[in-house]
Amino acid sequence: MQTADVAIVGAGLAGLAAATLLADQGLEVVVWEASDDVGGRVRTDEIDGFRLDRGFQVLLPSYPEVRRQIDLPALRPRPFVRGLVLRDGVRSVLLGDPIGGTGALAGLVPGRALRLGDLARLVRLTARDSLTKPAALLAGPERSTRAELRARGLSDHAVDGVIAPLLRGMFLEEELSTSSRFFHLLLRSFAARSPVLPAEGMAALPRQLAARLRPGTIRLGCPADIVTAGGVRSRDGESLRAKVVIVATDGTTAARLVPGITEPTWHGVTTYYFRAARSPLRRGVLVVEGSVDPRWPARAKRSGPVVNTVVVSEVAPSYAPPGTALISASVLGVPEDVPSGGDGESAPAAEVGPRVGGRPDERAVRAHLGVLYGTDTDDWQLVARYPVARALPAMTSPHVFRRSVRTASGVYVCGDHRDTSSIQGALYSGRRAAEAVLADLGIIGRDGAHGPIPAPVLTPDRTDQWATAGSPARAASRSGDGALAGGAAQAGDESSAAVLVPPSAPGSAPAEQVEQTEQVEQTDQTEQTDQFGAVPGDLRA
Ligand SMILES: Cc1cc2nc3c(=O)[nH]c(=O)nc-3n(C[C@H](O)[C@H](O)[C@H](O)COP(=O)(O)OP(=O)(O)OC[C@H]3O[C@@H](n4cnc5c(N)ncnc54)[C@H](O)[C@@H]3O)c2cc1C
Repeated sequence: MQTADVAIVGAGLAGLAAATLLADQGLEVVVWEASDDVGGRVRTDEIDGFRLDRGFQVLLPSYPEVRRQIDLPALRPRPFVRGLVLRDGVRSVLLGDPIGGTGALAGLVPGRALRLGDLARLVRLTARDSLTKPAALLAGPERSTRAELRARGLSDHAVDGVIAPLLRGMFLEEELSTSSRFFHLLLRSFAARSPVLPAEGMAALPRQLAARLRPGTIRLGCPADIVTAGGVRSRDGESLRAKVVIVATDGTTAARLVPGITEPTWHGVTTYYFRAARSPLRRGVLVVEGSVDPRWPARAKRSGPVVNTVVVSEVAPSYAPPGTALISASVLGVPEDVPSGGDGESAPAAEVGPRVGGRPDERAVRAHLGVLYGTDTDDWQLVARYPVARALPAMTSPHVFRRSVRTASGVYVCGDHRDTSSIQGALYSGRRAAEAVLADLGIIGRDGAHGPIPAPVLTPDRTDQWATAGSPARAASRSGDGALAGGAAQAGDESSAAVLVPPSAPGSAPAEQVEQTEQVEQTDQTEQTDQFGAVPGDLRA
């Protein structure tokens, strides 16, 4: 039987964030990952020389946890053009980010896509969110984004014709029922910096985190089927004993493994990737269907299934072989012929598409892309489609922004379902879980008494971090101080920290630290303020 200080179930961003932060503190960490690679919902396939993210997604460099935990320059980020192309079947307009500079304002001249009043309100809203602290945004009215936009005075045309077409592809839902607080946080993040794609694909993000861990830390193809506060076990009898257990799976699997966790409802999305001999648009910008002319009422429905599309290779040329273009198209939900996914499945592998003919859904997507780009798409080839039924935990208003990472069972939980449904939420929940573990083990002060764990030093070569002498955990086990001293660790024996005896009672956290099941799902108003403001000085205050 394998043993460790900390067992982590799941090597998505949340699990990797927790693992790297705990390993940095000298703890012996073992990660069990059910699938064949790290990254969870953030993975990239290479097919025929194309880099295909498992579902189109973007990285926001302004996310505080990305700034804190990720060495962004090492990812060689490729920015999107700020703004979006709005297409109504006849005309298209490039709309800029209202505070993204004078060039970006071109498409926003009054009368072209927005009335003067709507334009002024949108600029004011964006400026306000940019200048407002995240804590204040989180304390603002909690209602649906649609209700919030209307309450801010934006017209039906502005909401349905311009803003909703953009937000649908971000929220992965039609109605804009997502919490207005999340909308404001998102607007703030988008206004601060353009989204990017890493040159090597989105998978570069989790790979960077995984590379900080000692070889052998992550065990791939290891699904955990039973979890207790003292260890994890697989269906085929393999087990891992640990002082602390963190479940870092998607919310549905966490609800199955850990009592008291509420399963989220999900928004699904299907991404279609097409190859074309020529790029249909020589800009790396998001294209959506909306209403270009404010004199006409916005149409309630799109003319096809695509909520957004982008020529990915215009953003990051490394996503396609030379002389070809890669186009992504996102469609809400998953086609009926796709099973919704079994237990533990969060990101189905690519379904490589047929080169001729195609399914009805693919034909509709191709036809809609023809409208959106104003070009013939008959000779485009489907490279792959990625139906992801569990893409984003719904954040329908009223939404709880911060759920506890401690549970009554003694098992710790992290993942985007604990915070916001995003890369930020996943990374942040992983850090919160790591800090809770360190506090409960007495390695850092409770409630930040000795400050949170420091941000990692983001240098490409981190080989020296594995030196164990002097690390807090080792110091604790040598001195007999803290929870680690209760085990069988022997002073001076480097391997002995891995033979720690799990606590006799389930749950390693002291009783006063253990939250009751009812409390687990509560918002912690006092703590949620740093959700989007964890790095001092990184956001305009
Ligand atoms: C198509 C799509 C588009 C998105 N777009 C964006 C975007 O543009 N911007 C953004 O910020 N976010 C986006 N997101 C959301 C973001 O990717 C997620 O919020 C984040 O990756 C979640 O990370 P996680 O670690 O919480 O969970 P996951 O990534 O789901 O990781 C959980 C891990 O646990 C493993 N696991 C599950 N069960 C077990 C088990 N029993 N034993 C062991 N391991 C197990 C899984 O295999 C997985 O590796 C998007 C997501 C998708 C799918």
